[in-house]
Amino acid sequence: MDVGRLARQVRQKRHPENRVTFVVDSNPNYTNACVADCLFCAFYRRPGDQEAYTLSVEQVMEKIAHAAGLGATTVLLQGGLNPELPLDYYTALVRETRKRFPQITPHFFTASEVLMMSEASQKTIGEVLAALKEAGQVSLPGGGAEVLTEYVRKRISPKKNPDDGWIIVHREAHRLGLRSTATMMYGHVDRPVDWVEHLDRVRSLQDETGGFTAFIPWSFKPGNTVLEKKVPAGAGASTYLRMLAVSRLYLDNVPHIQASWFSEGKKTGSIALQFGADDFGGTLIDENVHKAAGHIQTTTIDDTVRLIRQAGFIPAQRTTLYDILRVYN
Ligand code: SF4
Repeated sequence: MDVGRLARQVRQKRHPENRVTFVVDSNPNYTNACVADCLFCAFYRRPGDQEAYTLSVEQVMEKIAHAAGLGATTVLLQGGLNPELPLDYYTALVRETRKRFPQITPHFFTASEVLMMSEASQKTIGEVLAALKEAGQVSLPGGGAEVLTEYVRKRISPKKNPDDGWIIVHREAHRLGLRSTATMMYGHVDRPVDWVEHLDRVRSLQDETGGFTAFIPWSFKPGNTVLEKKVPAGAGASTYLRMLAVSRLYLDNVPHIQASWFSEGKKTGSIALQFGADDFGGTLIDENVHKAAGHIQTTTIDDTVRLIRQAGFIPAQRTTLYDILRVYN
């Protein structure tokens, strides 16, 4: 596939040391209570539902302690859009994590959650992000973007990220000196024209701010969602590999492109390293969002190192912000 070869060439030029990085991380959740009703989501429960939960700060710290005990250096913490939670709850999560687990970078809260914090606290997006930064946050995950066009948003998540919210939060975060990742979840109602617009929007914001560390595309998992009947199978490996390669080529201003062994499976994730990716994502000690859709994958550090080596690269463990911690020569 020509596009794969071109993407590999660009990747080798950009990362000539032939390394593939990974992070030891965990993705716990603090609440599944959510008012957004996204059609693609199997994870959330409406507030008041018998299965809805919200963890206390102490309960979240127990989950982070578990991840820390297994060597995690990143915790990606996210949850539903729960209007009951005050801003102090979120800042306490960041502050306590920093205090108790200095080795862990809190990679907390998607743009959609930041928008909910802003709405619930009646503070501006800038004020919310400044409060999180003051508590010790340095980085935001890129989830919640799905595909950044109004065509897609209106059809799968009309209550989420109105008025270009995802872009506005990331722009403001970058302006305040926070870094973030960008993602794309494709393979539902989206069309190729939406993919191009999405990539173009990420590229344009990166030209403006330089704040994105990585781009991470993954395919929609339809299990247990409202969209399951409409999209029973989701996108396949061939589309994923092309998506990854085009991302590497188009996003020439984003340093890292992440292959997702987790969403696409270890085999496709490994092949993706030949299609322009230079990062293999995280070990994901704890994960519940894909699990709710019936998509279960697990790995270990040893397995990750082995898969990267088998693909012909030098494994290297990194931090949230892509500093190298250990090279597995
Ligand atoms: S994707 Fe997030 S915002 Fe949408 S329903 Fe699920 S938990 Fe809520």
